[in-house]
This record gives sequence, structure tokens and C-alpha cells, in this order.
Amino acid sequence: MSSSDRPRSAELAALTAIAAQVNCTQDLDEILSAALKTTLEVIGETTGEIFLIDEETGALILSTYQGLSEAFVHEEATVGPDECICGQAIRAQRPITVADLETYPARTRQACLREGFQSCIRLPLLARGEVLGLLNIQSRDHRQFTEADQELLVAIGHQIGIAIANAQLIKDAERRRATLDSVMNSLVDGLILFDRRGQIAYVNPRAAEVLGLPAAALIGQDLVMIERQWADQVLQPTQVLAELRAAAADPTGGQAVEISLTSPSARTLQAQFFSVDDQGGGHLGLGLILRDITREKELDQMKSQLLATVSHELRTPLASIKGFATTLLREDVEWDEASRREFLTIIDQESDRLAELIGNLLDMSRIEAGTLRVEPELVDLRPIIQETATAFQQMAPLPIVLHLPPTLPTVLADPRRIRQVLRNLIENAIKYSPDGGTITISVTTTADHLQVSVSDQGIGIEPDKLTNIFDRFYQVDTSPTRRVGGVGLGLSICRAIVEAHHGQIWAESQPGIGSTFHFTLPLALSPGLIETE
Ligand code: ADP
Repeated sequence: MSSSDRPRSAELAALTAIAAQVNCTQDLDEILSAALKTTLEVIGETTGEIFLIDEETGALILSTYQGLSEAFVHEEATVGPDECICGQAIRAQRPITVADLETYPARTRQACLREGFQSCIRLPLLARGEVLGLLNIQSRDHRQFTEADQELLVAIGHQIGIAIANAQLIKDAERRRATLDSVMNSLVDGLILFDRRGQIAYVNPRAAEVLGLPAAALIGQDLVMIERQWADQVLQPTQVLAELRAAAADPTGGQAVEISLTSPSARTLQAQFFSVDDQGGGHLGLGLILRDITREKELDQMKSQLLATVSHELRTPLASIKGFATTLLREDVEWDEASRREFLTIIDQESDRLAELIGNLLDMSRIEAGTLRVEPELVDLRPIIQETATAFQQMAPLPIVLHLPPTLPTVLADPRRIRQVLRNLIENAIKYSPDGGTITISVTTTADHLQVSVSDQGIGIEPDKLTNIFDRFYQVDTSPTRRVGGVGLGLSICRAIVEAHHGQIWAESQPGIGSTFHFTLPLALSPGLIETE
């Protein structure tokens, strides 16, 4: 239909239909294909296409089309930013019409001529002064697109431009929201946002977990809900909740409130409020960060405990060495040979104790600095276990029994370090068996590793402590009445040594019955070990 015999009402109807589609639908593909159909109908043509401009490359990406052959569509799926009449129209930011494509070879693509197109109009789709896409209509006649055609198409192009801009805004907002969501969801700290009225507007999964309530139950509630939730779980609730309220009232003060929870498990949280303001400084609400500082508190306590224990552990042998040395030096007493030997033996043993403690502290600092070295060689563990056990047997107050197979496969290990692990485990077995019993050392082998187990019939360990005991400075009994020495480093050093050998260490125990400590070492010919080399 040419512009001269097109009634004004048809143009208006087309424009209204496209505007309605833009306002009612959010699906851009649907809007574009309906708009193209309506446009072709009102302009009286059968072939056309809409391209969207790729925001990054500026290339034109074919989005919807009508009346075009598969070959053409395939060839024209992407058009470079500066190519043909399309590029010209985009740069000019206005429609470009060509009444005879044959006479416009420099800018006409072969594909258009092959399809038999004689004329065309390229209409940039604009929004906010920016070209977001291109509406192309081609004709197999030598059609002169009139002023009236162009006016109508510009109006239509405007509507489509708005639809594209809206879709981009929605996509952008969704992308930003998705990024924000993943950041919030992966935050290790809990985050709660309160709106201006003090109602909870957002709760990240960690905060919901810390509070023990689903996020949905918290949205729309206020701080009172959190206080109520904590009222019977917090140590000294009256004081803590008052501090929390004061911190909320003065979020810029940066005051952190420490909350000791007693249930469902004992934990320490740190709560800190901050003010949420918009870019213009307007107040939007409050944020609350909840950090679980249980581990930090424990480490802190352990460090203080360590200082006390190390000083004590150093002082005891030192006092004994000093005492016996002074005694031996007394000029007014003549010591017989047996007493002299006894005193010197004690000095010797206590010096060993000191040296061992200092060695452990040094090993620990090497482990922390990542410089603990193991020097593996091919070794037979049998004599190493036998020698270590024999050394203890001579002085141990309880029997040590060995269950060793007649021969053991070779392992790749540092013999000095493995002796250290064995000594530690046997020493512990003796130390924590105040009422005696037997210590048993056994070895089993599997296809790829060898497992050494040291069992005792001592005091045992509560199940919930079985993994903690391998943490540095951890001791089950830290009471001042603790009867045995040690600073809580032995097992963590054992773990570091065994892991440096690609092995594992763990404990099994029944309180009051006894404990077994197992560690594994890969066999020298184990497939796993060869692979890692
Ligand atoms: P410590 O110097 O205190 O012995 P370790 O690291 O060797 O340090 O052990 C950590 C804690 O594990 C000990 O304080 C003790 O509570 C527990 N433990 C270790 N071995 C045994 C055992 N054989 N029986 C019972 N408890 C043990």
C-alpha cells in the first residue's frame, strides 16, 4: 500500500497496536516480531527484519524477520557495525532510503540483489539519543519511500526503540540483582537490612542460619523479633540486648556488640550496625553484620592458655635442674656415688624434657611458616617401631605389646620424623593412662598403604573432642588441676608430619575404656604416590 492511499486511521491503528504491545509485554522477541508484522502490513510490504546492536561489539544481530529466504537470513545473521547501508543509517541516526539498489553498488550487499530487492529503507531504532537497533524494509519494486512513509516509520521506530531500551534496563537490573544475590549468598557473614521504618527488608542465607529462622519469617519484622529470638539463647540477655539497641540507635559509632549464644550450640557472634545511605546522603535504613567469631575467641583463649602452660612447663624442669645442680654443688655435703648418679640422671632427663618442649615449639613455628621439612627415603618401619617401643619399655610404668607382621612393605618416609610421631603417640598413651593398662602397637597393610595403630586403656576422649585434639594448643583438660604435663602441641605436630608424608592420622576412643591413634603412610610403590611424583 503506498502512502497516498493509506488512510490516516490505519497508521494510527498500527501505532496504537505497537504501543500497546510495548506496554503490555516484557518479552522483547514477542514485541519485535509483532511490531515488524504490523509495520509491514501498514507500509504494504512483505519483507523486513529487525537487528539489535550488540552493546560490546556494535555489530548488528538479526533478531526477527519476515519474508526472507533461509540463505539470506543465514548470511545476514550478523552485520558488521560499519557495513552497507545499515551502517550508514546508524551513523546518520536517521532513516536512509534507496529507491534503486542496483545503482548503489558500493553500499549494497550481494545478498539483497540475489533476493531480488530493488529498494529499501533502513530505519535506526533510537532511544535516549542512542541507536539500539535497526528496522529494515525491502521491496521488490522500485519503491520510493515517501515523506509520509518515513514519518510513520520514525514514529514506529520510536516505540520499538523504547521497547528495546526497557528490555535492556530490565536485563541490566536483573544482571545486577543476580550479581548482588550471589555476593550476598556467598558472604560468610550474616547480613540483615532494615528499611527506614526499622523493618527487615533483606536477610542473607547466613543471617537466617545464624538466627535459626527462615528469611521469610524475618522479612517485615523489626529488631524486637531478633531480640525475642535471642532472649533465652544469650548469656546476660538484658545487658547484651540493651547494648544491641544502643548500637542500632547509633550506627555510625561503629560499636560492635559481642553476643555469647548458649543454644543451639555455644557460639560467639559479633554484631555491628551500619547506616545505609544513598549517593545523595539520604538515609535509606540500617545494615546489621553478624560475624561468627567463635573460632577467633577460642584461638585467643588457647594462646593465653599456651603462655600460661609453656611458662609452667618450662619452669618445672628448670626448677628441678637448678635444685639438683645446687644440691650437687654444696660444699658442706659429701654425696655418695649412687646419689650423685641419681641427681645427674634427673638433671639429664629434665634437660631432655626442656629440649623436647623447645623442639616442639620450634616445629610448630616451622609448620605455621610452612617450612617443616621431611626428608623421605625408602624405609622399613619394623625396626623403627621396635627400637622406639624398646626405648620406652625400659622406663614405661606399663607394658608395651607389639603386633607386627614378620615383614613390612617399604614406605617412603623420613625416619627421624616418623620416630617423632611414634614417640608422641606412645608418650601420650602412657601419660593418659594413669591407672595403667597395656599399650599395644600394631601394623596392618593394604594394597596402597601401611597403617600404624597405638592403643591404650587409659582415660579415653569424648567423641566430640576427637578431631579437636589434633588442633594446635588444644587440650581436653585445661584445668589447673591437670595432672600431666604438655602444652597441646604433640598431636598437631604429628598431624603435620603425617600429612607431609601424604598420610592420614585420626583417633578412636571410648571414654574410660581407652584410645587408639592410627596413622597411615603410603607404600613406596603405591600407585597414588607414583602419580603424584
Ligand atoms: P599434650 O601436650 O596436651 O599431651 P597433645 O597434642 O599431645 O598435647 O594432645 C592433645 C590432647 O589430646 C591432650 O591434652 C589430651 O587431652 C588428648 N590426648 C592425646 N592423647 C591421648 C590419649 N592417648 N588418651 C586420652 N587423651 C589423649
